[in-house]
Amino acid sequence: MGLIVQKFGGSSVANAERVMNVARIVTETYKQGNDVIVVVSAQGDTTDDLIEKANEINPKAAKREMDQLLTAGEQISISLLAMAIEKLGFPVISLLGWQAGFNTNSIYTSARIKNIKPNRLQAEIAKRNIVVVAGFQGINRYGSDTSAVAIAAALKADKCQIFTDVEGVYTADPRKVENAKKLKEITYDEMLELATLGAQVLNNRSVEMAKKYGVELEVLSSLNPIPGTIVKEVTKMEKMLIRGVTKDKDVALVSILGLQDTPGIAFKIFSKLSAKEINVDIILQSFGRDGTKDIVFTVSKDNGPVAVEILESFLDNCKIVCNTEVAKVSIVGAGMETHPGTASKMFEALYESNINIQMISTSEIKISVIIDAENADRAVSAVHKAFIPND
Ligand code: ASP
Ligand code: MG
Repeated sequence: MGLIVQKFGGSSVANAERVMNVARIVTETYKQGNDVIVVVSAQGDTTDDLIEKANEINPKAAKREMDQLLTAGEQISISLLAMAIEKLGFPVISLLGWQAGFNTNSIYTSARIKNIKPNRLQAEIAKRNIVVVAGFQGINRYGSDTSAVAIAAALKADKCQIFTDVEGVYTADPRKVENAKKLKEITYDEMLELATLGAQVLNNRSVEMAKKYGVELEVLSSLNPIPGTIVKEVTKMEKMLIRGVTKDKDVALVSILGLQDTPGIAFKIFSKLSAKEINVDIILQSFGRDGTKDIVFTVSKDNGPVAVEILESFLDNCKIVCNTEVAKVSIVGAGMETHPGTASKMFEALYESNINIQMISTSEIKISVIIDAENADRAVSAVHKAFIPND
């Protein structure tokens, strides 16, 4: 018994039947004597549909109005879920983000949560109400995970369960990779890397926040009642060198070839990009030869052409090209920190599949390569097979 925060994603509340299913999970938890706060996101594709509606009218609409529009999706979900819980005979109240005490900064469409005033939530719980809170509301896309973790942290919940349409965190996308395995446990740092590198199961900001406040997460299925994956600080290693293989196709590779080899040029390039809020990921610079050098870097796909435009505005006598047909494939695992040969094993798997590596980047617990996008799925399978053998 305790306070449990449960978050349900869009597919878990996609239609009336699914909403009733969620109501049953929530009331089951409540019946066991727990206080329950539920965070829901918009039904199914609602958020994408609303964005499309806005684009039909004004693709450059003010971000404040986008937020105003998109909050409607979550408002529908909370009221429908409250009605479903009421139908099952339990006391319930739905609250919008601001009613639940969320206080954010005003960077529209990607606001940061400053704090949560817990009074209202606490008062509703004291009345033994099940509280259904609208997730997301103004924060970044897929922000409902973060809303749930923020509530769990503010109210020192005993558990934060993230319900979704898969059964937990897998070593690779189980729909694409044969023999992908569900992990029992994973550390915050590993989960953060996986989430950032393309695993879609949890939003990376929510993992960051969970780590910061020590909120233990469980990722589990709303459709199949079996234990999911626990995300926490320290885990038993399960004898695994790596925890997962991911791919990210949202990558553009920008190359500046034949650049003048003078001091300050890299500074100039990357400060111009950062001034335009362009986030650069992997950077590679060649040795200087004959007074020139090459600099190659990656950005998100839509930033590729923007970066080229910026570079062309102040660089001349060099060639600038942008390739958007690339993907980043990564392996993640705390085990590699103390295990030599991890990189070579990954490169061998790619070599055996005849896949060329264009760039490499590493940190303590991850190795990423940039390859042709058309090889991405093959690369993930080959690398996964090398590290996580079939049983
Ligand atoms: N419905 C919102 C979105 O799709 C928030 C969420 O699902 O977390 O971005
Ligand atoms: Mg989600």
